[in-house]
Amino acid sequence: MTIDRKGFLRLTGLGAAAWAAGKFAAGFPGRRAETPNGEAGRAPRRWALVVDSRKCRQSRDCDLCIRACTRAHNIPEIGDPRHEIRWIRKATFQEAFVSDPRDSANERFRDLPLVVLCNHCDRPPCVRVCPVQATWKRDDGIVMMDEHRCIGCRYCMAACPYGSRSFNFVDPRPFIRELSSGYPTRTRGVVEKCSFCVERLDGGGLPACVEACESKALVFGDLDDPGSAVRAAVSGNFTLRRKAELGTGPEVYYIV
Ligand code: SF4
Repeated sequence: MTIDRKGFLRLTGLGAAAWAAGKFAAGFPGRRAETPNGEAGRAPRRWALVVDSRKCRQSRDCDLCIRACTRAHNIPEIGDPRHEIRWIRKATFQEAFVSDPRDSANERFRDLPLVVLCNHCDRPPCVRVCPVQATWKRDDGIVMMDEHRCIGCRYCMAACPYGSRSFNFVDPRPFIRELSSGYPTRTRGVVEKCSFCVERLDGGGLPACVEACESKALVFGDLDDPGSAVRAAVSGNFTLRRKAELGTGPEVYYIV
């Protein structure tokens, strides 16, 4: 069984009334007093992801995280040239961290394998420029995207300094290899991006990429929780954030 977007909104507790009342941003999907893996606790305040490039096996052709994301969110098959929808993708340190192509990363880091995705910025420029509030930031830091509301102007794509957003130039649905009933499909003419798997988090789960990573290179959790693994990973290691100098406040950290 597949689910359309209306069905998804119903499932996530959003009805037409909330939409009509203009409360979409506040109510999609609501915050829960749960941490990943379903432990009861205070509502998470600052979701963050750590990518430990020392453990990442992409250099050995691993793409488990990307495949898990593709499957979970009905993203068209990787490698089809008719579209380029990417919520999470491979990059080298050079691509991810060196803005000016004339510059070169330290040789030690240059080919380090990484994954890049939406940074769920603390001060997201994409949110500021959207004329219809189709993208917004939740209290727990997740930058959301409502493809129903999107008018396809692509201002958000121009504003994002990380290239984290994709546009559906064609109807993506014929190119989905295996339809998942757990997430709505999108249509031509809308922007989409990583949501930190908000639908899983709100059920007490982990993002699909984190769950799929066999080498435990991805650590996710509430950075404001002193006991969280993500806090330990950030405080116990030297980490970098992409283009942090722009002041966007990325919430994806890289151990290099
Ligand atoms: Fe917005 Fe780009 Fe930051 Fe994601 S990475 S929140 S799309 S500016």
